[in-house]
Amino acid sequence: MRRTVEIAGGGIAGLASGLAFARKGWRVRVHEQDSGLRILGAGIYLWENGLRVLDALEVLPCVIRDALPGWRHEKRDRLGTLFAQSSISPRFRLYVPLREHLLSALYDGLIAAGGEVVFGSRAIAADPEGVLRFADGGTANADLVIAADGINSPIRDRLGLLKWRHPVGQFGYRVMIPRAVAELTSDVGRTHCENWNGSRRLLYAPCTETQAYVQLTSVRGDSAANRTPIDRDLWRATFPHLDWIIDRIPEHGRGDWFELVRTRSWSKGRVVLVGDSASGQPPFLGQGGGCAMMSAFTLAEAIDRARDITAGIADWQQRERPFTEWVQRVSHWYGQLAFLPVPLRLAAFRAIGSSERLKAATLFVAARRDPTAAAHWHDPQPMARAYDFPAIH
Ligand SMILES: Cc1cc2nc3c(=O)[nH]c(=O)nc-3n(C[C@H](O)[C@H](O)[C@H](O)COP(=O)(O)OP(=O)(O)OC[C@H]3O[C@@H](n4cnc5c(N)ncnc54)[C@H](O)[C@@H]3O)c2cc1C
Repeated sequence: MRRTVEIAGGGIAGLASGLAFARKGWRVRVHEQDSGLRILGAGIYLWENGLRVLDALEVLPCVIRDALPGWRHEKRDRLGTLFAQSSISPRFRLYVPLREHLLSALYDGLIAAGGEVVFGSRAIAADPEGVLRFADGGTANADLVIAADGINSPIRDRLGLLKWRHPVGQFGYRVMIPRAVAELTSDVGRTHCENWNGSRRLLYAPCTETQAYVQLTSVRGDSAANRTPIDRDLWRATFPHLDWIIDRIPEHGRGDWFELVRTRSWSKGRVVLVGDSASGQPPFLGQGGGCAMMSAFTLAEAIDRARDITAGIADWQQRERPFTEWVQRVSHWYGQLAFLPVPLRLAAFRAIGSSERLKAATLFVAARRDPTAAAHWHDPQPMARAYDFPAIH
């Protein structure tokens, strides 16, 4: 008999999980509370790890169909002077497609693989025996229930799995801006660049020939900068040489305060947490979605390989959770550099940027992971390489 999975949440984690299980022959049903896919007008960093998962799920060409391959990542100060840079090689890829393309490719792949997505279906709780409960009073039984219901996950909280969630004191405004094809001929137009002035940051990421992704970040207490709609004059004064970007920023961007989530466990019985419900993190490594996709993929793989579902869940959690928590820590601490005085922060960026070993263990630790490789499953102690680092709390 076909095994069944009921999934709460039709975001990156829910759709990627659904597709991974559908590819294994399971009967999949995803419940999304909204009336359609939640399309944010923003780009999303997809590093090598996430790209490999999408490739294994057979949707990569669709996700990156008109996205430009990243080739260089830079950091510049308020005067536009370069102080750190990394090259992005074709063997260690980066794309920043539109989120919309990622979600619709996962959705289309899931439907084509025989999965079902029910819109306007809000889950409110789950029982460890494998029951998903809905706001309209209905229930669904399954071999496995996945709570991919995002950072505010009611399922996680009602199962008592949340240990803590903390604001990290940083705000981000995300938006897409138009760009001229001719800009691709200049290095500035082709390069991913983080521009810093004090604790304010403007990230410019080329997505397609005609669109770029811009993220403005600022810290708690900088009330002039952390609000929407943005104060254009303030951002022009902060980065005078970037008025060509700031002038194109539309009013309808999205603002978020970043948070960090830590759980007691990623599972209870037949209910598992995947994505931001389990591993919400600030976006400084561009890996929240990448971690969600890795977890989704490895969950389906681990259960498929195990004797039974609970053994598969246990193996998955043991392999994936410590690693993902490390990625969360790195992302948190890297983001906290924004609170340092400028000379100290510059020194920290330079120190990290000058050591390939340090970068491999921190900034690129998630991007370097390949959960689709056979070797990933032959490592008897997958977290023997867990990197020791100060705990956050
Ligand atoms: C500013 C910012 C920039 C980011 N940039 C990147 C990046 O460049 N690269 C990257 O990899 N990650 C990035 N991230 C992180 C990434 O967006 C998240 O990690 C990812 O979206 C998590 O996916 P998810 O499916 O777990 O949660 P969500 O995207 O929150 O999706 C949850 C879905 O579940 C639905 N839902 C919620 N509750 C219920 C319910 N009770 N019942 C049914 N449905 C429900 C929601 O409507 C939603 O559709 C960024 C995050 C932020 C805030």
